Amino acid sequence: MDEVILRSERLTKSFGKFIAIDNIDLKFKSGIITSIIGPNGAGKTTAINLLTGALHPDKGKVFFKDKDITSLTPDQSVKHGITRSFQIMNIFPMLTVLQNVELPLLSLLGKNLKWFYAVSRYRDVAEEAEKILRELSLWDKRNKVAGELSHGDQRALEMGMAIAPKPEMCFLDEPSSGTNPLERASILELIKRLAEEGSTTFVIIEHDMDVVFSLSDWTIVMNKGKVLAEGEPDEIRQNKEVVEIYLGEEV
Ligand code: ADP
Ligand code: MG
Repeated sequence: MDEVILRSERLTKSFGKFIAIDNIDLKFKSGIITSIIGPNGAGKTTAINLLTGALHPDKGKVFFKDKDITSLTPDQSVKHGITRSFQIMNIFPMLTVLQNVELPLLSLLGKNLKWFYAVSRYRDVAEEAEKILRELSLWDKRNKVAGELSHGDQRALEMGMAIAPKPEMCFLDEPSSGTNPLERASILELIKRLAEEGSTTFVIIEHDMDVVFSLSDWTIVMNKGKVLAEGEPDEIRQNKEVVEIYLGEEV
């Protein structure tokens, strides 16, 4: 349980002259929920992009279970068991709720959109999609066009797309952003349940400190492209430097 499942070594990424990720060693332990916090612009999303193949580092490496995955594409990363959701909503608004969840399942089999019409031939896909949608409480809305869902339901759906391939590791980039308190609570509940029931290791970027402290077993604090501190939520809450960078924001 306690072993490191994914780690980076001296990871560095610049945009022009700006160093967004500055020589960092990240470590994620298997079977727990880790949260990454830090002010806007700290480099949290960039870090996830580098760990999941959306971006490639200027220097440094990423290892997943000791295999070098630094130069994988996002598709290859999914095939290795690593998925992610996006800070900015990334569902397919014109497709139905069901199709949105079927899509990543089909793509794992090397099939694309046109296979929707033949999805009944893939019983595993249909069964898995149903299971996920029931878990998300979206089964009743399966035939709705995804763009018509409430924001909270869209956020839940996006999470469903990320967990559909049954990843070993799943990164969620601000999964509750833009939701109201009720929606937020239900998304958190969902993450908790998925983490408890499944075998997925979750890493969550989150802005809301209450969320961080109620949900995560381990917290990594980033600031200016570096890791400022990491530890159990209680330690982090009392860390002076951490409190300072959050002064003026709601702690
Ligand atoms: P966070 O997710 O912690 O808010 P980001 O990782 O999105 O921060 O961004 C870190 C810094 O890198 C920010 O200053 C941002 O403007 C910059 N940045 C991110 N992506 C790009 C890009 N594609 N081109 C130029 N600058 C970028
Ligand atoms: Mg971000």
